[in-house]
Amino acid sequence: MNKMVITCAICGAETTKEHNPNLPVTPEELAQATYDAYLAGASIVHLHVRDKKGKATMDVDIFAQTIKLIREKCDIVIEVTTGGGVGMSDEERMQVLELKPEMASLDCGTVNFGDEFIVNTLPSMRNYAKKMKEYGVRPTLECFDLSHIYAAEVIIKEGLVEPPFHYGFVMNVPGGVKYDVETLDFFVRRIPKGSFWTVMGIGGRASLLSHYGALSLNGFIRVGFEDNVYYSKGVLAKSNAQLVERAVRIAKEGGYEIATPKDVRELLKLRTA
Ligand code: ZN
Repeated sequence: MNKMVITCAICGAETTKEHNPNLPVTPEELAQATYDAYLAGASIVHLHVRDKKGKATMDVDIFAQTIKLIREKCDIVIEVTTGGGVGMSDEERMQVLELKPEMASLDCGTVNFGDEFIVNTLPSMRNYAKKMKEYGVRPTLECFDLSHIYAAEVIIKEGLVEPPFHYGFVMNVPGGVKYDVETLDFFVRRIPKGSFWTVMGIGGRASLLSHYGALSLNGFIRVGFEDNVYYSKGVLAKSNAQLVERAVRIAKEGGYEIATPKDVRELLKLRTA
């Protein structure tokens, strides 16, 4: 039986309480939201943290505190962001790797992000990949565009990333590639055989449709307030866990078993397996 890995991206960098008042921001709220998502069936949490004003930060102490609180509650796999937020420097974004998380996102190229943009050059990608390799952190190769798949290939060929590869396809970012299953399929066909991938549809409709894309093409699902704050058109989600619950239901109806954190550690050969 196939196992479905569900990642929950509980807050992100750009979502605010104005978008959804149920957004978790403090370390305590992030830990509780993670635990609720875990109980609902998420096996990976994708983690960003916020400062006291609720603004995105890459402060290592806040990450450390949040991870400690999560670990007191459950053994969910923790994937930290190294994408950070719009306008952050590489040094800022990379310091969280010192905590040696099990997984981390590795952005594989430059992309529009609404009216802003995210810069990731090949030299900076190499730096992230080297650090992750050194610390035994499994990268999620985040591709916001087709060219990012080829950029990832460059660092793979240079030996900076080791198999099994895990890709994250981020689709429907305003100004980026749109989500549709045909485009997703095109992307999936261009990654190395035997790789794993998770699809993230940004915005309510794309997020929901991407669950079915993952089911159809044997990928994994990501949900959460980083990607989408709605449950349905015009209706805000009550919690991250509510979005996980729906993904679990859809995956089970599609004939999948839900992967546990232990399954993920084995499948992606995490150093904690
Ligand atoms: Zn993120």
